[in-house]
Amino acid sequence: MVQLRNVHLSFGDNAVLKSIDLEVRRGQAVSIIGPSGSGKSTILRCITGLLRPQAGEISVGGTRVDALRTEAELIALRKRVGFVFQQYNLFPHLTVLQNLVIAPTRVIGRSHAAAERDARVLLEKVRLAHKADAYPGELSGGQQQRVAIARALAMQPELILFDEVTSALDPETVGEVLTVIRELVREGLTCVLVTHEMRFAEEISDQVHFTEAGRIVEHGPVSQIFGQPRSERTRQFLQRAP
Ligand code: ADP
Ligand code: MG
Repeated sequence: MVQLRNVHLSFGDNAVLKSIDLEVRRGQAVSIIGPSGSGKSTILRCITGLLRPQAGEISVGGTRVDALRTEAELIALRKRVGFVFQQYNLFPHLTVLQNLVIAPTRVIGRSHAAAERDARVLLEKVRLAHKADAYPGELSGGQQQRVAIARALAMQPELILFDEVTSALDPETVGEVLTVIRELVREGLTCVLVTHEMRFAEEISDQVHFTEAGRIVEHGPVSQIFGQPRSERTRQFLQRAP
């Protein structure tokens, strides 16, 4: 579903990604862990075509992302890849239900009735059916983030990228967001998850990548990374993690 090969990206003379290789198969949950500034978000932004690497190949579902040239091609890619960030960025003047209906109707031409039916199913899934008519400002951070996840799902993406989606939340509401992601992964959602929640990464991931200073220092199955890391740096990082 996703393949990065030998990806290099610099901002000016700051080399931020150095020879990144990463693969995600359909139905897999792949985590990226590592210190701040190590390039995790940059990798996700390359996968959605928001950033273009100076070298290397990126494929998403058979499309060569690094070769896309026109805005129309990039928009077509972003319809297929959901992206959920730390900031929920819901439309504050629209209800929860309207937040879920707007993109499918305007961007992929779903009828309003079908989009609303889908939206109600998704709100059930994220346990917010009772908030369909609320406005984002009336919801807790955890609830808003669950709406943001439902909104991404409403576009029926082939894969979803989660970038530290619980980092801005109160500790009490982190669990409700992780519960939703856990269920989606169990149902077979293909996703890439950047997280500082090590126990969660350990629980749900098929593969884990540890990044530092723009490189993937180590990657492997959960049993390796959390059980018997090969790199001393991975070991140190995990020892210090909460
Ligand atoms: P992480 O998500 O692992 O914390 P990032 O991918 O956000 O790391 O950033 C990696 C490096 O790239 C950092 O040194 C950051 O300062 C730099 N960087 C990220 N985005 C930009 C940008 N738009 N312009 C210049 N430098 C950037
Ligand atoms: Mg980041």
